[in-house]
Amino acid sequence: MEKDCVFCQIIQGEKSGDFIYRGDSVVAFNDRNPQAPVHILILPIKHIRSVNDFIDEDRTVVAEMFIRAKEIALEMGIARSGYKLVFNVERGGGQYVFHLHLHLIGGWVVKNGQ
Ligand code: 5GP
Ligand code: ZN
Repeated sequence: MEKDCVFCQIIQGEKSGDFIYRGDSVVAFNDRNPQAPVHILILPIKHIRSVNDFIDEDRTVVAEMFIRAKEIALEMGIARSGYKLVFNVERGGGQYVFHLHLHLIGGWVVKNGQ
């Protein structure tokens, strides 16, 4: 927990979040400024700054983030139509909140389901 981190504050309930999933090591909530019909953030409960800051012991939680992303995509009904999974890394990579998070973005209409 980093007291100045907005995502730690949401995880701790100090700030409101529209949660999709809460697990022991990972949570997911809706992005407050969605870039697509579905835009969900999947993040570790542990405060990790960015992809650059993974350490060996984080491998289980990082794997869990991907498993959760896949499961949420299925639950949201966007698995077949498709989606993007994006990590922005540091400012040059478009990261503005420095608590590791995976963007799950999708829900666009795909013609003929192709
Ligand atoms: P980044 O650019 O760091 O990869 O993505 C940060 C994302 O967090 C942005 O898409 C932004 O809309 C979202 N965001 C920032 N502050 C909040 C917040 O307080 N609540 C929620 N739900 N999303 C936030
Ligand atoms: Zn944090």
